[in-house]
Amino acid sequence: MATHVPYAFVTDEYWRNVPGWAGVSRDEFGNHRWQDRHGITSIEGLAGVLGSRLSPGLLQDLKHGLTRTPMRIRLTPYLAALIDWSNPIDDPIGRQFLPFGSRFLDNHPFAVDDSLNEDGDRVAPFLVHRYPDRALFLPLTVCPVYCAFCTRSRLVGGSTAIKAKETYGASPEAWEATFAYLRAHPEIEDVVISGGDAAMLRPDAIESIGRTLVEMPHIRRLRYATRGLAAIPMKITSDDAWVRALARVSDAGRRAMKEVCVHTHVNVGAEITEWTVAASQRLIDLGIRVRNQSVLLRGVNDTLDVMHQLIKRLSYVQFQPYLVYLHDMVPGCEHLRTRLSDALGMSKALLGTTAGFNVPRFVCDAPGGGGKREIFSHECYDRELGVSAWSAPGVKPGHLFYYFDPVDLLPESGRRIWREPCERDKRLATFKALARSCQNGHGTVA
Ligand SMILES: *Cc1c(COP(=O)(O)O)cnc(C)c1O
Ligand code: SF4
Repeated sequence: MATHVPYAFVTDEYWRNVPGWAGVSRDEFGNHRWQDRHGITSIEGLAGVLGSRLSPGLLQDLKHGLTRTPMRIRLTPYLAALIDWSNPIDDPIGRQFLPFGSRFLDNHPFAVDDSLNEDGDRVAPFLVHRYPDRALFLPLTVCPVYCAFCTRSRLVGGSTAIKAKETYGASPEAWEATFAYLRAHPEIEDVVISGGDAAMLRPDAIESIGRTLVEMPHIRRLRYATRGLAAIPMKITSDDAWVRALARVSDAGRRAMKEVCVHTHVNVGAEITEWTVAASQRLIDLGIRVRNQSVLLRGVNDTLDVMHQLIKRLSYVQFQPYLVYLHDMVPGCEHLRTRLSDALGMSKALLGTTAGFNVPRFVCDAPGGGGKREIFSHECYDRELGVSAWSAPGVKPGHLFYYFDPVDLLPESGRRIWREPCERDKRLATFKALARSCQNGHGTVA
């Protein structure tokens, strides 16, 4: 573990190293509109700005990748220019956003599009109600960037060669059914406004959703979820209309003793630069708290040093490290998943290294809809077979949920079992019987 963590955030005009942006001034680069207009949305666009820095081999690899990924390419110049273009395949930002064909693995046999069964807990067209006192509002399916590992790849990020989607933009007329459900359910105290990404909501939508929710007496907490703060911090420093709309909701919330905050998604310390520092300062000045939710990703942030640096840097800019998710079991990103054992080891090693409130909780969002479970709370775990069992007494009492490690990371004896379906099913049946027996004796919360 690194004992000394430098906060040497990128402050130079780093984007000028990208041939197509060599002449871009600091003012232009710092403008969210410029960032939007110059976003990378295709291989051709990437080749256009990189010129000869994108080798023919890499270009071929990306073309191959596009035939396997459920996510389109979408990347802000802010992040694209942070990638080490001499070796983008191993770059922690490159790996998150670009589909390098040579990296893909076969999907896990139990990977499914809607791994968390969000559709099963959908109570209104844009609303998922899984937990007793909180709900998830998905008002749109677009984001400022498209992550190769998106858990909502069935909805977000546009159709690709292998995945057709019905994506939708924000349509305020359509949200009335969602608000009606929330009004009729006083037990819901907490609403996550996600998507897609709240950064793509227009200021009037930010404000009308926020005010509508703050005015419901039983709603005590709102979270706007956006990767924008990480992927285009210029949104906060230069989109005054958007920030003012958010601030008005936050002020209205404060007067009513309600929390209005922002949840963002940073995965490696390199995503945090002086632009993030400036964005954070603006939110701090407005009294808006930020929390961070990361995904544990293979080859991105699955080493202790990288995760520790991330947490220290998040703490520095006051994005409270809240959650680190085990990667969901969705198709097209097996090469980015890790094992439960990796998360257990990392979480254990991080405990005590910094302020307790800045040590993130590592969670497994239980496949099938059990909700987020603290990783140490698994009922049992077979590391050879790569399967863990989870219960969720406060959410779905009596049910068991199973998470599977990526097969390629199992010991050879475990990989052999997965090659033989009969043997695999036998071992799984034994494991599930064991899981049912260790689950006995847990209480439930009414
Ligand atoms: C993550 C999530 C929430 C919020 O859960 P917290 O544990 O409060 O962060 C709410 N609803 C759904 C469906 C979620 O996936
Ligand atoms: S920002 Fe979030 S919702 Fe959008 S593509 Fe990335 S992970 Fe998916």
